[in-house]
Amino acid sequence: MLPVSSMPIQVSNPQVSPDKVLEIQGLYKQFAIGRWGRRRIVRAVNDFNLSLSRGEVVALVGESGSGKTTVARVIARLYKPTAGTIRLNGTPVPEKLSRDDLLAFRRQVQMIFQDPFSSLNPLHSVRYTLSRPLKIHRLAAGREVEERVKDMLERCGLTPPELYIDKLPHELSGGQRQRVGIARALSVGPALILADEPTSMLDVSIRLDIMNLMLDLKDEEGLSYLFITHDLAGAHYVADRIAIMYASYLVELGPSDDVINEPLHPYTELLKSAAPKPESGLKPERISTTYDIPDLTNLPPGCPFWPRCPYAEDRCRGEVPQLREIEPGRFTRCVLK
Ligand code: SF4
Repeated sequence: MLPVSSMPIQVSNPQVSPDKVLEIQGLYKQFAIGRWGRRRIVRAVNDFNLSLSRGEVVALVGESGSGKTTVARVIARLYKPTAGTIRLNGTPVPEKLSRDDLLAFRRQVQMIFQDPFSSLNPLHSVRYTLSRPLKIHRLAAGREVEERVKDMLERCGLTPPELYIDKLPHELSGGQRQRVGIARALSVGPALILADEPTSMLDVSIRLDIMNLMLDLKDEEGLSYLFITHDLAGAHYVADRIAIMYASYLVELGPSDDVINEPLHPYTELLKSAAPKPESGLKPERISTTYDIPDLTNLPPGCPFWPRCPYAEDRCRGEVPQLREIEPGRFTRCVLK
């Protein structure tokens, strides 16, 4: 793995603000894979900068392997960053956390996982799943635990709670399981929720219900969400701002309506063109590209999108373009803008 000091760290957005729930500056994450002289470095996240305000929803959008889930896992302390700074409520999160510090951190930052079945222990009832965080964080004791579990179930749409509290995960539908996952995340009163594709494994008919539930809870609790998804339409529905990732780089960031209606980056155009359009019989109007997703162990020199970009020029094969603010609040990583 590259030593941090030798890495080309470029901070595109150096402002920090104590009003922000989350500020990420110059984040890099690399993984070493292979052994016995065949070691390779996966550059999963490069030069990543993003902040979230209180009550804001930012959708992090990209295809598989773009690095979006790695970003969430680094924020959640499931992976250590290779380089970069993460601030929570204005305070840098230290590289090493004591057990108590980690507990306090987890109270502030919770995750909702993609697969509501595998994220719940199949042997534990809903009661156990929801009461455990309350006990670990010493937020309730005795009869109050049961009352708070029932209250969370009701607020997450599992009513009457007596019907669900003793059920095991396999006795619930996918949507009900995800509601339990949301209740578990909210039970400790976090400031930030990292939602990793929370609706992608659910039936289309209940995705909207879950997104609406998350938005209602956000308004009630003053939460901020980093909503990770590959679905641009879903991102537009839930998010105030959309951040687009491609091959480990943040390539576009801006208000949701602007990113959807007037994309700045050719990759955002590609994502938009690939989304089903009800008015054209659900048939996406794909723009043509020739290559597939690049190998993160061997990114092409220059702009990582040039092998697929219909507008690529010679200068695109030189250096990785910087993420630049083209107009207030709108950023893109493309030499054409
Ligand atoms: Fe396309 Fe060049 Fe812009 Fe990259 S920098 S997105 S290759 S036009």
